[in-house]
Amino acid sequence: MGRVVQKFGGSSVADAESIKRVARRVVATHKAGNDVVVVISAMGDTTDELLDLAHQVTPNPPGRELDMLLTAGERMSAALLAMAINDIGAQARSYTGSQAGVITTSKHGDARIIDITPGRIEKSLEKGFIVIVAGFQGVSQDTKDVTTLGRGASDTTAVALAGALGAQYCEIYTDVDGVFTADPRIVPQARQIPTLSYEEMLEMAASGTKILHLRCVEYARRELVPVHVRSSFSDKPGTWISALDEGNSMEAAIISGIAHDRSEAKITVASVPDTVGKAARIFSIIAEKDINIDMVVQNVAVGGNTTAISFTLPDADRPKAMEALEAAKEEIGFSHMTFDDAIGKVSVIGVGMRTHPGVTATFFDALAEAGINILMISTSEIRISVVIAEKDIDQAVRVAHTAFGFDSDTGEAVVYGGTGR
Ligand code: ASP
Ligand code: MG
Repeated sequence: MGRVVQKFGGSSVADAESIKRVARRVVATHKAGNDVVVVISAMGDTTDELLDLAHQVTPNPPGRELDMLLTAGERMSAALLAMAINDIGAQARSYTGSQAGVITTSKHGDARIIDITPGRIEKSLEKGFIVIVAGFQGVSQDTKDVTTLGRGASDTTAVALAGALGAQYCEIYTDVDGVFTADPRIVPQARQIPTLSYEEMLEMAASGTKILHLRCVEYARRELVPVHVRSSFSDKPGTWISALDEGNSMEAAIISGIAHDRSEAKITVASVPDTVGKAARIFSIIAEKDINIDMVVQNVAVGGNTTAISFTLPDADRPKAMEALEAAKEEIGFSHMTFDDAIGKVSVIGVGMRTHPGVTATFFDALAEAGINILMISTSEIRISVVIAEKDIDQAVRVAHTAFGFDSDTGEAVVYGGTGR
């Protein structure tokens, strides 16, 4: 007998009809002889709507209460799915994250899973129930308060449960057929990628591909849980994400896909004294504010004895970062700061580029031909990223997609639902 975790995203449970469709799929998996644990997101745009509502009540909702509010979204869909399953003759039990044993840190809105104690789930499975777990939530070990794991984190709940329950694999059902060579909303000729290594999926998620939550992929890699990303609107096989076995890595595709991210901003700190310890000071100040930075560029000090340091970070953190740096202006000794919110990042990713020269040249040639100016560049062993003007992102993704020979003429990319919000 197999054991499977299936996760359904918000667009797969947007209304009563969709919930019934999901129920039929879950029951079919159960009837095929599997233990089934289902992790569910809130219906449609419920989480965004609840957030809007909170902000209508107060500009500063306390984190604890916000988590109480937002977790209600997943609780609703979990209960409704359990009812729909019971209605077609199987038996289901729904649980909140806390009841399911998802133990977390206490940081509201961004808690981390510390441990999973799935005793109740195991008991329910033993009795033959289909188990439904509300995604994206848990309970703090210290405060015993309800927590959420960050936007999009139902994926993480699913993979963490799959690891803790020893499931053979974790299926992530979404509104597209799998992971594509580029966002099909921008490139209709995008192709579905059949298999990806954890490393490639990590780079894609970190580079803005929204299909899987970054921490979900980190978890899957650590626990070696194979993940199958597929559509809840069709029966087609999706994209399998698993460990890359060494034998295959020579034949691996040079490039697996192109990712983009619109959510970045750039800050430049001008006329920083060119002396030991200044960069360390700047980034300590940012780190103290709990802000993650992405790319950093320090210009060569030309002629004089000062330099400029530019870095990118999430749009939302930009004002907080500038405020903190402004307060340390005299101590660090820089002259002023500038910023640009209208930028974004485009990345090409693939394990094959380790062993194939020329990938950077192909990418940059394509951008040059399209007249797109590169503002910053960063690379890893399996990724090349550029920061460009936000208005150029769609075009950059398209020309890179064409340059790497990805364009399919079958128009296989289907976006079944969801607003991509
Ligand atoms: N409903 C939550 C969100 O929108 C969690 C999830 O869907 O994964 O972020
Ligand atoms: Mg998601």
